[in-house]
Amino acid sequence: MQATPDSAVPHAAENRVIEPLYAEILRRNQGEKEFHQAVREVLETLGPVLAQRPEFVDARIIERICEPERQLIFRVPWSDDSGDIHVNRGFRVEFSSTLGPYKGGLRFHPSVNLGIVKFLGFEQIFKNALTGMPIGGGKGGSDFDPKGRSDAEIMRFCQSFMTELHRHLGEYTDVPAGDIGVGGREIGYLFGQYKRITNRFESGVLTGKGLGWGGALVRTEATGYGCVMFTAEMLRSRGESLDGQRIAVSGSGNVAIYAIEKAQQLGATVVTCSDSDGYVVDEKGIDLALLKEIKEAGRGRVAEYAERRAEAVFVPGAGVWDVPCDVALPCATQNELHEADALTLVRNGVKAVAEGANMPTTPEAVRVLQEAGVAFAPGKAANAGGVATSALEMQQNASRDSWTFAHTEERLAEIMRHIHDSCYTTAERYGSPGNYVVGANIAGFELVADAMLAQGLI
Ligand code: GLU
Repeated sequence: MQATPDSAVPHAAENRVIEPLYAEILRRNQGEKEFHQAVREVLETLGPVLAQRPEFVDARIIERICEPERQLIFRVPWSDDSGDIHVNRGFRVEFSSTLGPYKGGLRFHPSVNLGIVKFLGFEQIFKNALTGMPIGGGKGGSDFDPKGRSDAEIMRFCQSFMTELHRHLGEYTDVPAGDIGVGGREIGYLFGQYKRITNRFESGVLTGKGLGWGGALVRTEATGYGCVMFTAEMLRSRGESLDGQRIAVSGSGNVAIYAIEKAQQLGATVVTCSDSDGYVVDEKGIDLALLKEIKEAGRGRVAEYAERRAEAVFVPGAGVWDVPCDVALPCATQNELHEADALTLVRNGVKAVAEGANMPTTPEAVRVLQEAGVAFAPGKAANAGGVATSALEMQQNASRDSWTFAHTEERLAEIMRHIHDSCYTTAERYGSPGNYVVGANIAGFELVADAMLAQGLI
């Protein structure tokens, strides 16, 4: 058989650049499988941009972007309510400061390790670039398990965590926020300890703060709201709307709750939510007041929702994707929607899938959805509303101002429209119309890569 000439294979030359690069990333970051997955997903879409912009290859932008600027790992000792001592591991990966201070959340969950933090930090670079706001990319957290811990234990853990982390933070340096296991309560304890150690009321050093001490309206709602706004934009570009659609949401944390709220406001019926024990189906539509009472006020489980609502059924030990829906919003955690789930969703006629969580859809599942013509929004575009509103919180802190809910929500809606449009037009410009994965990766990458070229060898 004759060898195919490069000209006949789209981006063969660029793939020859990318493959050895990826092999080297695997070799140098062994065992970090989620990081490999996140890198692979970006690199495999960059062929067309490297073909048009060879200066990115010459300047070794990919090698530089895939290597964090700084990685911090530290000991977090704390004592529980019985006086027993525990030792956890703390992380902060300061990935890229090209566009602004490192920005990204902290995750407290037993699954946290360096590979998880690096995958999240890597995604954050492109996500933050897409928002158009002046924020770099970073992520942190700990393998601490907050489940079942008292407020006093959570406070002591946060204080110990910040006792080390504070020296690496600053409103112009690195600005953490929440993620899984870190919400308003934890941000409060972290901020208090930062203030006490540094003797500075530096509001812009953390986002997701309480409304009375530097927090911003809409930050709590922003990730879920933004994800639904993005979904509405995707449907609009296909001549449809969210009104009357049946939606399956996974998760029952902050992202899921406010995705449900916005979807309901836009006339959709959300029939599911879940946690690690199983899922709830509620054919009448989720009663959000009840869910909030259980999850936000009581820190309870979704099984309790079904116990308290006659219309709802709890299905233990399973995921939500068997429930037929028009739109699926995975809002729980990474790799929660697998190939078999995607096949089921397609069989049931799903039109759109938007990631409220970070990387919840496996690469095989993404392929199934895209090949079936389902509108698929990757997390770095669809869930960017949270970090974008964090940047709005920083803006308010810098100007010692606070905006109304309506004004802030309108800014969020504008940002989500802007992200949608730039993904859409970039995908079209690079020959993959309708492919939001290509659009998001290339649009984010170009912004960071251009700035890196301008800033010299950094
Ligand atoms: N953890 C969120 C994310 O994945 C928010 C980060 C932030 O607000 O800094 O984007």
